[in-house]
Amino acid sequence: MKTDSFALRHLGPRETDLPKMLETIGVETLDQLIYETIPDDIRLKQPLQLEHIMTEYEYANHIRQLGRTNKVFKSYIGLGYHPTIVPPAIQRNIFENPGWYTAYTPYQAEIAQGRLEAILNFQTMVIELTGMEIANASLLDESTAAAEAMALLFDVRSRDQKKNNVCKFFVSEEILPQTLSVLQTRSTPIGVELVVGNHQEFDFSNEFFGAILQYPGKYGQVYDYADFITKANEKEIKVAVAADILSLVKLTPPGEMGADVVVGTTQRFGIPMGYGGPHAAYFATKEEYKRSMPGRIIGVSQDANGNRALRMALQTREQHIKREKATSNICTAQVLLSVMAGMFAVYHGPKGLQYIADKVHGMASTLAEALNKLGVYQTNTAFFDTLVVKADAKKVKAIAEKHEINFYYIDEETISISLNETILFTDVNEVIAVFAEAVGKEAFEVSEYALENNYPMHLNRKSEFLTHEVFNKYHSETSLMRYIKKLERKDLALNHSMISLGSCTMKLNAAAEMLPLSMPYWNTIHPFAPLDQVEGYTKMLKKLEHQLSVITGFAGTTLQPNSGAQGEYAGLMAIRAYHLSRGDKERNVCLIPASAHGTNPASAAMAGMQIIVTKTMENGNIDVEDVREKANQYKDQLSCLMVTYPSTHGVFESAIKEITQIIHDNGGLVYMDGANMNAQVGLTNPATIGADVCHLNLHKTFAIPHGGGGPGVGPICVNEKLLPFLPSNPFVAVGGEQAITAISGAPYGSALVCLISYGYICMLGAEGVTNATKYAILNANYMKARLEAHYPILYSGEKGRAAHEMILDCRAFKAKGIEVTDIAKRLMDYGFHAPTVSFPVAGTLMVEPTESEDVAELDRFCDAMIAIRQEIEEATAEEPNNVLKNAPHTLAMLTADTWSLPYTREKAAYPLEYIAENKFWPSVRRVDETYGDRNLVCSCAPIEAYM
Ligand SMILES: *Cc1c(COP(=O)(O)O)cnc(C)c1O
Repeated sequence: MKTDSFALRHLGPRETDLPKMLETIGVETLDQLIYETIPDDIRLKQPLQLEHIMTEYEYANHIRQLGRTNKVFKSYIGLGYHPTIVPPAIQRNIFENPGWYTAYTPYQAEIAQGRLEAILNFQTMVIELTGMEIANASLLDESTAAAEAMALLFDVRSRDQKKNNVCKFFVSEEILPQTLSVLQTRSTPIGVELVVGNHQEFDFSNEFFGAILQYPGKYGQVYDYADFITKANEKEIKVAVAADILSLVKLTPPGEMGADVVVGTTQRFGIPMGYGGPHAAYFATKEEYKRSMPGRIIGVSQDANGNRALRMALQTREQHIKREKATSNICTAQVLLSVMAGMFAVYHGPKGLQYIADKVHGMASTLAEALNKLGVYQTNTAFFDTLVVKADAKKVKAIAEKHEINFYYIDEETISISLNETILFTDVNEVIAVFAEAVGKEAFEVSEYALENNYPMHLNRKSEFLTHEVFNKYHSETSLMRYIKKLERKDLALNHSMISLGSCTMKLNAAAEMLPLSMPYWNTIHPFAPLDQVEGYTKMLKKLEHQLSVITGFAGTTLQPNSGAQGEYAGLMAIRAYHLSRGDKERNVCLIPASAHGTNPASAAMAGMQIIVTKTMENGNIDVEDVREKANQYKDQLSCLMVTYPSTHGVFESAIKEITQIIHDNGGLVYMDGANMNAQVGLTNPATIGADVCHLNLHKTFAIPHGGGGPGVGPICVNEKLLPFLPSNPFVAVGGEQAITAISGAPYGSALVCLISYGYICMLGAEGVTNATKYAILNANYMKARLEAHYPILYSGEKGRAAHEMILDCRAFKAKGIEVTDIAKRLMDYGFHAPTVSFPVAGTLMVEPTESEDVAELDRFCDAMIAIRQEIEEATAEEPNNVLKNAPHTLAMLTADTWSLPYTREKAAYPLEYIAENKFWPSVRRVDETYGDRNLVCSCAPIEAYM
């Protein structure tokens, strides 16, 4: 046995465990189990054609060497991405800390108070810097946040505007080009007409419902938008502003000018550029629009003792993501990055941010003055950090590249130079030298800031920000380190115990996969850097695309979408473009089975499709006859079917090929939701089942950590038919021959974290990824075998097998007064995070162990579930004062002088033996689900507010 094989590290069960596990399941061999699970006609007969397997050590060398073929130039490109200083304390204690990056989305608030507080800090920071009333927990990137703003403003049109079909949206020509491209994608299918123009010439006609402005403009010009916003509001035109977050430290925030929505990226608050992502976008708006707000909002509520506790607000709404009425499909966002950006503000505080902003502006002013002396004239009449100069671009480019410097070359004689937090006088002097050489003059050096402010006095920010204690308390590394640790301790992540989230695949995020993210060769590259500087990135990304194409059986892949839901949208937009390219303008109907994840109908609605829901049969399978009937009924309008495979019920439906054939026979295409790909890799694939396109959640199947709710990567893989329509980017040549406009701002989406999936596949190889699938199925069926005598298992395959996950039916316990939530909360006392609650069936738990958990952990979880089953047995509907209803139990309860509950403290906190040596204490009692929504508070209010 090769003991240096990465597969041994990634897979939980040891070979010696197999006999016992197989016996429990009741099969002779692992292959027998697989044959009984996956229908014969879709099983792959050949191993995947992937390159040779690397050990962890070989991969580390490989990725270092490949990284060195990227050229890390000083970037003055700007356009929404800036070099930044990642505070080492944040890098080490959050970014590189599994306590933070392996956490799940904080649905279980009682064991997520740490990251909930960190996100609340982020929201507070956004609210105060933008001058708005509410903010969400992050969005995918600035460009899609701008599109979400447009969708929100479209959604909140007045009754008259809706009646008169007011559908024009003004886009300032100062908007970032990648944002314009995403706005183009997102506007057409929902019936919004974009009008791009100069905001100074806008006529405020009542044909417009909204407008978006960039602050400062794309090349750095600072405009005062107060007049524009006032005039627009008089005409019921609502205004969104895409704003640079650092500039808001110095400039009047859009909220104070009356903006309705403010969006942007928080990348430059300590998040590496990473060749495009991941970074947290922010979205802030007015309280009155809270019900239309995209994404998640963290809100303040209280626990069973009336103590302050945080939770995701308006959460019940999200579980259905509004389905076909949706204006947004955001599910996974960018939580880890928002935690980091929020912590950047905590660490620097208001004074530190002032200092950084002053420095950036000071350097920009100094450079402007120096260039002026060289006769290189600056044309921005007001700026914060970006200059536009007139010079021979070709000449400057040649010299600059010798100095390893990138500017942005607007045209042959116009160059923009964007400064940032990392710039020192030596850098400014180097830029001066470049221009001096270009214009044939003597270079000189500067060592003092120019004194002048280069934006109008009246735009100087006057309001205070970040006055809350949290932003003024943790400015030494010791105190910050302890604050981060204090929060981390409140959260249960994968470094404590398994998180068996059905559909979400919380597998190992191996250190060997994560380490390269911290390498400067990979993380300090601008997404629009010239292609000859990104050889390593291009190679890695192309290889990953190829690996994913091989795994799905498809012709091509794009990595652009930043989440699974965004992948759905991208896939549906490609399908739409395909039909349109063939003149099939009527093909607009999307069939979706009733059991689909909420993002499916939401994505279809955003792609402008008409959603027809198809029935599910008693046994949970798709009703084939209903699909046939509806496909037939709509055969002239059929665009596609969206289907999850194996199903959201955790079953490989054997009729899948028949279903996809029906769709094709009626002129439609098949979109496969690939969230359950962990049950397919190496054994079957989307192409084989007859799909035309699928998304993959790299943060589920391909080892990118969940980060507490993001980052995610949601590539789509397509067959030949859809290859021409893969999305483009305005700066980098990506996408098909008839490419649709951009899905997200960066050409390869969150390129940095793609390294994780690349490493995963390189180190596991064809054999390892296939074994991962087999072991995922093994683990699920082992748990099924252990649990089925205690909990009814809803749905299984024809031969009685689960796929990689299973649904435990808890609905009958209602008779004893026990809800599925009570079980979820009680699991915390046993040291576990609950499985998926009430999806896809209300009142159930969906368990997915993944291949990374070993038998001992599976057994502990099963023991806990069996013990809870006994507790349910003891419960009665008449007496709700029981161990389940009171769960979770906190340390404060256990150690209080009085104990008046009708069971022992030991039963409350140490019901099984294994718990004692690794006890996890929930930091609050059960959080009130409704209180927080009735009193929505989504920022750190002064402490008096809770008294
Ligand atoms: C997770 C999931 C999605 C959404 O993916 P995100 O990456 O969270 O946007 C869609 N469908 C199913 C079945 C899922 O489990």
